[in-house]
Amino acid sequence: MAKQEDQFKKVISHAKEYGYIFGSSEIYDGLSAVYDYGQNGVELKKNIREYWWKSMVNMHQNIVGLDAAIFMHPTTWKASGHVDAFSDPLIDNKDSKKRYRADVLVEDYAEKLNQKAEKEIAKAAKCFGDSFDRAQFEATNPRVLGYREKMKAATGRLAKSLDADDLADVKALIEELEIVCPVSGSKNWTDVRQFNLMFGTKLGASAETATDLYLRPETAQGIFVNFLNVQKTGRMKIPFGIAQTGKAFRNEIVARQFIFRMREFEQMEMQFFVRPGEEMKWYEYWKETRLNWHTSLGLGEENYRFHDHEKLAHYANAATDIEFNFPFGFKELEGIHSRTDFDLKAHEEFSGKKLQFFDPELNESYVPYVVETSIGLDRMFLAVFSNSLQEEELEDGSSRVVLKLPAILAPVKVAVFPLVKKDGLPEIAKKIVDDLKFDFNVIYDEKDAVGKRYRRQDAAGTPFCITVDHDTIKDQTVTIRHRDSMKQERIAIQDINAIIEQQVSFKSWIS
Ligand code: ATP
Repeated sequence: MAKQEDQFKKVISHAKEYGYIFGSSEIYDGLSAVYDYGQNGVELKKNIREYWWKSMVNMHQNIVGLDAAIFMHPTTWKASGHVDAFSDPLIDNKDSKKRYRADVLVEDYAEKLNQKAEKEIAKAAKCFGDSFDRAQFEATNPRVLGYREKMKAATGRLAKSLDADDLADVKALIEELEIVCPVSGSKNWTDVRQFNLMFGTKLGASAETATDLYLRPETAQGIFVNFLNVQKTGRMKIPFGIAQTGKAFRNEIVARQFIFRMREFEQMEMQFFVRPGEEMKWYEYWKETRLNWHTSLGLGEENYRFHDHEKLAHYANAATDIEFNFPFGFKELEGIHSRTDFDLKAHEEFSGKKLQFFDPELNESYVPYVVETSIGLDRMFLAVFSNSLQEEELEDGSSRVVLKLPAILAPVKVAVFPLVKKDGLPEIAKKIVDDLKFDFNVIYDEKDAVGKRYRRQDAAGTPFCITVDHDTIKDQTVTIRHRDSMKQERIAIQDINAIIEQQVSFKSWIS
């Protein structure tokens, strides 16, 4: 645990030191759970957004984009259920005065049991070696079965009491499980209360005529209210999808863990409209497609897992999370939800407008069902960034800090150096920069010894460095150095562009 915390601290300080993420309005001591993206952060974020957008919109002929406003008519949030039900159960510890999400306390308790079970399994696997049968061990070992049973009982009861809005039972569960406050260590809890997460604001000049608005807590509703506009003007036929990226706002109760849980964040969502009755087929399709998107980035297949929801949201008939192995353990990175026809039907009811599709094959009109994929861009940023930050021992006994970002996402693709600041080498290097800048984000650096410059780019995440030396003048070749392998090769200046393009093109990454 201490090691994990240590690694997470390194991630946060590295993100600041290399211009990825700063605390918001830092000169005024910051604003809790709000962050700014620096010169490298903005590029990484943009590249992740683009990787998502291309794979959703460009790669699917039946998915189109949208950019809806953050402000929406306030009835939107009545219809969607957010005014009545977009809340989290909170609980305070009377001794530490710290506030927690009651459901998260129980989920963390369950995860600890899961880790104990995994430890037993790992121990046995070590003992039995190649002959170890994991499935059989999990099905028969009394300790593993005991942990898993306890886990299921806790999460099952939580789901039941939240469904029934029985907050007294959520508190009773926390007490029965003897969950203590991680800060004070005490079990001195307040009652559980519901807390609405939407930020309110006002539209209009005078206090009397101003309208109460909300900052959108998700981008999805902008898609639902435009369903018919897009379907008709784009002549879309079911099944089809609408994709959108943009800011969302939630007044989170506990907003710790850096950019994992923010109050202002960005979502990348896609709503896929399907025939009623076909939603499960598409739910499975999107589960698989989205997991493939994640693994295409090479962060390690073992770092992802599905977590099916036990407590379904009011609009869903199936839901799963793709969880990622963050520095603080497996947590939700993306949600895939089968939202039924709940949203479109609710908007029909509240607006009095028909939001239906005439299906020529069936010769009937219906309200489509929806399967959505919803991922937090900032969370994806944290997944990529934390997984990429590594400290390596080198063969010569020294060590290096390297940010092994997938090359397609790296903010700067190439750094170009003259070996020395004289003999015409800077001029050649600057000419190379001028040629490459049309296709890639490229920088020029001539300060310090070349080894130091390589390390600087390693830590900043730049996948390729090009060095111009005295041989370049004679034979028009340069050295290309690869960040991950640290291998160096001699290549012709005229081939640089094609070599880098091959390594960072969307086509060569997406499977
Ligand atoms: P959680 O259970 O972590 O609060 P959620 O289930 O409420 O998340 P969704 O409403 O499904 O999240 O939102 C979709 C995605 O948006 C999440 O998978 C996550 O990546 C991202 N997200 C949600 N809330 C936040 C937040 N406060 N900060 C950053 N990203 C967020």
